[in-house]
Amino acid sequence: MPIKILDPQIVSRIAAGEVVERPASVVKELVENSLDAGSSQISVEVRGGGVSLIRVTDNGVGIPSGEVELVFQRYATSKIASLDDLESISSLGFRGEALPSIAAVAQVDIVTCATGESAGNYLSLKEGIAVNRGSQARSQGTTVTVRNLFRSVPARLKFLKSPATENSHIANVASQYALAFPEVKFTLSIDGRTVLRTPGSGQLIDSVIEVYGLEIARNILEVSRGDRGWEGEIATSSLSVAGMVGSPAISRSSRGYLSFFVNRRWISSRLLAWAVEEAYHGLLMTGKHPVAIINISLPAKELDVNIHPAKSEVKFQNERLVFGAVQKAVRRALIELAPAPKIEEVATTYTAPSAPSRTLWASVGAGHSPASSPPVASPTLVFSLPALRLLGQLSSSYMIAEGPDGLYLIDQHAAHERILFEKIKHQSSHQEVEVQGLLEPVTLEVNPKQDEVLKSQYENLAEFGFSIEPFGDRTYLVRAVPVLLHKKDWAGVLRELCDSPSGGDKGDWVEKVAISIACHSAVRAGQVLTDDEMRELIRQLEQVAIPNTCPHGRPTMIHLNSGQLEREFGRT
Ligand code: ADP
Ligand code: MG
Repeated sequence: MPIKILDPQIVSRIAAGEVVERPASVVKELVENSLDAGSSQISVEVRGGGVSLIRVTDNGVGIPSGEVELVFQRYATSKIASLDDLESISSLGFRGEALPSIAAVAQVDIVTCATGESAGNYLSLKEGIAVNRGSQARSQGTTVTVRNLFRSVPARLKFLKSPATENSHIANVASQYALAFPEVKFTLSIDGRTVLRTPGSGQLIDSVIEVYGLEIARNILEVSRGDRGWEGEIATSSLSVAGMVGSPAISRSSRGYLSFFVNRRWISSRLLAWAVEEAYHGLLMTGKHPVAIINISLPAKELDVNIHPAKSEVKFQNERLVFGAVQKAVRRALIELAPAPKIEEVATTYTAPSAPSRTLWASVGAGHSPASSPPVASPTLVFSLPALRLLGQLSSSYMIAEGPDGLYLIDQHAAHERILFEKIKHQSSHQEVEVQGLLEPVTLEVNPKQDEVLKSQYENLAEFGFSIEPFGDRTYLVRAVPVLLHKKDWAGVLRELCDSPSGGDKGDWVEKVAISIACHSAVRAGQVLTDDEMRELIRQLEQVAIPNTCPHGRPTMIHLNSGQLEREFGRT
């Protein structure tokens, strides 16, 4: 094909793909515009996973009547004017790309009324071209309605996940901005149900209560001296760190509870996640992650926000300074405000398995399921276990056994996990799950993101022994749980499952549920077992299909055959 300049329509479609990846990106851009417009109230309404409808309404400064059409032109922005402005961006938007990009891949209607104007204006666009305009009564502010997202881009539409998954991404965006801007009243409604409503009190804790619920809010510590929202920040030269962090008692099995904002722009940052996790060093079980909401304020010129198409990453001029300040501020909150026992001190009685959730959340957003087979087990390792004779227990964590061919050191937790995992899968597929009714139904409160998953999955959990029914606003009644989880942390299992939405693949989901139940109900390392209990465990391990790895793929045992023993003792 000869080289030629692309048609403007193709150019805008390609460019739109960078900004608008999925419905949640549209919500993010529109909410950022509302925040830049100084709104104190922002409501987000979505239908059909955001594909049928996204509507964001605000009470911000509005768009002057003469400029309504201009905002849909690429690179039209009121936020920067010169190259110098790019060096110190204080608004969330600055490229003038969002509205034209959205209009290129959806049908858009805008109604806006600017400060000081007596009447509002509306404009409708199809495929980025204005098709209708006029004046319309409206109080100050802007409403943008986006319909039929990606209808003209079937490739994108195909790539979207189930409405439940898209809703959970949208709920996450709204939740993050509700945390970043506690002074703004946010509401989010999904298919006509209000799933998030913050009071706009300016107190971060009020947003935390609405987004994460009371359990987390009761166990959260302030990363600053004052007792107010983002005020009273800890300052290190030009930089300050503020926010809230969860006490180690409410650690989570995914990193989904880490929120970072830089000058209140929501970003993802490995650097900051690492800094926070460093601050928890020695306070969390292996595989557990903290709850943290951190805002870093620093002069805009010490930061490059223009490095990512969706503006969701930033580059700090001085990464070491930022890392150190965050780590210190969080550590101080944890140590000074809430002295907690160090994990080393309790490790002798209880050690959690390492990284139990890796396979649980690795599949979020990925198109395939990494959880369906043990990741590190190679086929040659799969073998059947001979009859073993128990010799004893080591460190209350390992069983020592002898077989016809040498010595076996078996990790009791990993082995039990494997046994339970296979049992749960068998029972659920044969509808033989043992169920334990609770004496009284227990209410389970979940965050908006978890709600989106649980809503679509609670009925499917019946085959594993959970009896769950919706009970109003983000609350569910739990009437029965699998026998295996009776008196165990079944609520933790449910939250863990909701934190890792399934891509819709049934096998993937079954695997996840079975892993989570097995992990939470297996005997722990550090638990003293009687000889009879150990013999029973070994007998059951002899029967399973894959005895040598736990469902996460870690080894359950170390085997030393007689040849290896002889070599170790130098007898050959
Ligand atoms: P950017 O935010 O990068 O400037 P956008 O395409 O998102 O680019 O928006 C273009 C312009 O439209 C903004 O600069 C702003 O002037 C105006 N605008 C968009 N949304 C709103 C809103 N909700 N309230 C007031 N003005 C808005
Ligand atoms: Mg914008």
